[in-house]
Amino acid sequence: MSTIEKAVDSIPFLDLVTPHLELEEDLVAAFRKALHTAGFIGGAAVADFEQAFAAFCNVEHAIAVGNGTDALRFALMAAGIAPGDVVVTVPNTFIATTEAISQAGAHPEFVDIDERSCNLSIAALRAYLEEGCQRDANGRLVSRRSGRPVTAVLPVHLYGQMAEMDALAELAERYGLIVIEDACQAHGAEYFSKKTNAWRRAGSIGHAAAFSFYPGKNLGACGEGGAVTTNDAQLAQKIRMIRDHGQSRKYYHEIEGYNGRLDSIQCAILSAKLPHLEGWNASRRDRAVEYNRLLAGIEGLILPCEPDWSRSVYHLYVVRTQNRDGLMRHLNAAGIGTGIHYPVPLHLQAAYARLGYKAGDFPIAEAAATSVLSLPMFPQLTSEQQARVSISVRDFVKK
Ligand SMILES: *Cc1c(COP(=O)(O)O)cnc(C)c1O
Repeated sequence: MSTIEKAVDSIPFLDLVTPHLELEEDLVAAFRKALHTAGFIGGAAVADFEQAFAAFCNVEHAIAVGNGTDALRFALMAAGIAPGDVVVTVPNTFIATTEAISQAGAHPEFVDIDERSCNLSIAALRAYLEEGCQRDANGRLVSRRSGRPVTAVLPVHLYGQMAEMDALAELAERYGLIVIEDACQAHGAEYFSKKTNAWRRAGSIGHAAAFSFYPGKNLGACGEGGAVTTNDAQLAQKIRMIRDHGQSRKYYHEIEGYNGRLDSIQCAILSAKLPHLEGWNASRRDRAVEYNRLLAGIEGLILPCEPDWSRSVYHLYVVRTQNRDGLMRHLNAAGIGTGIHYPVPLHLQAAYARLGYKAGDFPIAEAAATSVLSLPMFPQLTSEQQARVSISVRDFVKK
């Protein structure tokens, strides 16, 4: 492809401009309303969005907070994770997951992922609980690795697909663990629960769940944003307090909290965008089906796996291949944007040297880190663009 063609025809990894221009009038109106009433913090805009988002997730309560990292942290704090506790999660996630654990005063420990879904491996979690933990003199479950009490598990619904929540909830119940879902990539994702014989939405299964409204997420603010969802009224009440300086009413502080509110303009903007989310997610699912069709049967290319108990919302469409870096360079040279989610698993990050993990500890997550490639995925992606991505992938394989 010539340079000129490339400039005209490049396919972005993510198009954030088009969806905002499509809603320009609604978004400007939301801003104007806040401006005319000076309603910048709290008020109806926040309550209305919280109610609408709770309904979308099929939960009783949603609490809007400043970002997804705070949503995770506040959920952990409110759920009663004590300083020094271990929270178990996966190594192949954005660092916000483990930052929130540390900021809540707890310690992350990892279990490996499932080879097909790239989500938390139930077998690995079971092995961790059965062999990696023991009961101390007080009957508490403690990690053999660190000697610390293990009190929570934090599954990440990676790439828009939910972790295997029935099996996870069963293990959590058996071991008395709190479950906090990292649903920051999974707004609207669904899981067919055999326990309740019904489809359950991301954010409605654990004790609480965290969402991010970072602009690139399936539902994004025009800035930062996040929310906690829960069906537990007490937990919701606690989180409302934590996000607002620990006050139960103005200037009466039950605890020390945070300035963790989401401002009214972002809430109004999110309320304007939320009615479009089902349609956007449906379009992402259609795009995924189209990629699956176009990319089928390419040797050495592993496509995303969506079990029949899952409805992914394809925050990302992630393929895996041995020569990932080569494929990425080839696509980028053809003007096709790509991403890597994520190149270095958390247990090998410099920030977590103190945890004492080493290469080889989580072989499946490590193999994923060197082979995953995220292709362009957004609701407005056209089938013509997808065809070009597919041709470019096939060109590379032939070389
Ligand atoms: C985006 C994201 C977060 C953090 O959200 P922010 O709003 O950026 O703080 C946490 N976990 C995962 C898996 C994410 O993708």
